[in-house]
Amino acid sequence: MKIGILGIQGDVDLHRKKLEEAGLDWCIVKKAHELEGIDGFILPGGESTTISKMLERYNMDKVLKEKIVDGLPVLATCAGTVLLASRIEDGEEEISPLGILSIKIKRNAYGRQRESFEVPLKINLGGREEKIVGVFIRAPKIVEFWNGVDVLGTFEESPVMVKQGKIIAMTFHPELSDGVAVYKFFEEIIKGSV
Ligand code: GLN
Repeated sequence: MKIGILGIQGDVDLHRKKLEEAGLDWCIVKKAHELEGIDGFILPGGESTTISKMLERYNMDKVLKEKIVDGLPVLATCAGTVLLASRIEDGEEEISPLGILSIKIKRNAYGRQRESFEVPLKINLGGREEKIVGVFIRAPKIVEFWNGVDVLGTFEESPVMVKQGKIIAMTFHPELSDGVAVYKFFEEIIKGSV
C-alpha cells in the first residue's frame, strides 16, 4: 500500500514522518501522473488559495477530483479540508474548491485572538474513542454538513473531524500531535475494513 502526499505546500514532511511511524509506505505527489498507482492521498494544510491555484496550474485539479470521486481514499487537514469542501462561506471567489465533501466551511473562522490554539479532543475512529490534542492553526470551521457526513469529533459544537465514504477531513493538524491513530484509521479505510 502506498500513500501519496501532495507536495505543493504545508506540513509535507511531518505527514511523511507519521506515515513512517505508522509503518506505511509513502510518496510525494507533485504532478498529475504521480497520482497513478497510489492507494490513498494526503492533502496537507497550508494556504488553500495557494494550493488551489497550484493544482490548477499543474492541471491536477480535474484529475484529482476524478480520482477521489472514483474512490481514492483521502486524509485532508485544515486547508486540505477547505479544498475538498462543496461550499465556502464568504470567499468562494478567491478559491475554487474541488466540491467533493458535503460540507460548508468558513476559512480562518477563529479570528485573530485565536489564530492558533491547542485543545484536547475526543475523536471516534471506527467505534474506538481516541484522545488527541487538536492543534488548530488559522483553522477553518465546518458550519454545515449534509449527505451522509459522519462527525467523528467536535469542538465547541462544531465538527472538527468528519468522514464521508473514504474521505476523512480535519480542521486541526494530526501531524503536529503525538501518536498515529488517525493514520492507522486511514489505513483501515484504505483496506476497506471500516
Ligand atoms: N487558513 C488557511 C486556509 O484557509 C488554512 C490554515 C492551515 O491549513 N493551517 O487556507
